Amino acid sequence: MKKSAEKEIYQIDIPVEVDVAWVLKWMHPGRTSARVEEIARELVEEARKIARPRAVYRISHPRVIDKATTEIDGVVFKSKVLSKLLTGPDTIIPYIATIGKELDALNAERGEMMKGICLEVIKTLVLGSASEYLTEYVKKKYNMPRIARMNPGSLEDWPITEQRAFLSLFDDVEKRIGVTLSSGGVLKPTKSVSSIIFPNESGFVTCQICPKPDCPTRRAKYNPELHKQYLA
Ligand code: SF4
Repeated sequence: MKKSAEKEIYQIDIPVEVDVAWVLKWMHPGRTSARVEEIARELVEEARKIARPRAVYRISHPRVIDKATTEIDGVVFKSKVLSKLLTGPDTIIPYIATIGKELDALNAERGEMMKGICLEVIKTLVLGSASEYLTEYVKKKYNMPRIARMNPGSLEDWPITEQRAFLSLFDDVEKRIGVTLSSGGVLKPTKSVSSIIFPNESGFVTCQICPKPDCPTRRAKYNPELHKQYLA
């Protein structure tokens, strides 16, 4: 683990965790066959060899200014939900995790549709496990047994346009972990995630206040009452 002296910014390398069975489970059941299994096996092997998922995080102290404004280490964010959630915690952990440029560069050729689908699933799973790894690491290291997470762009209330301000918390993210930002606020590699981990006893999950229908990655049922409470 590398530490940046001036700002308490830390970088960690993350183990690659991906399994053929997970990949096949994620793919459409109608698409699985001996051939698909063979493709998945080869690609998982390749991904395990080349992928270098990594993350950068910092220890931050939020200051809630009003019901829609929070300052985190000198950077101001506009979000009602964030103000509500960060009223109380003294220490929070903003982070960016990525699958890394190495795995991102592994792509299917034109016409290799199944390989393309399989790679998309593998990259998604590697990012998911990298984010979980970092979360567990932080919980243990900073004694935060119960936490919640929130990321810019996950709700209208905290739009993707705040991504640039979020990245500024880490100085040169490209130099540190190879992540850049498009003009529209999309992280590159696209299989990267920016988020804040903070102590939370309520079991809050952003999906509870996100009304998006048919989201394939929903982790909790939409709760209109809670939505009202957070966005009042
Ligand atoms: S429901 Fe989907 S879009 Fe909404 S916060 Fe959850 S994962 Fe994100």
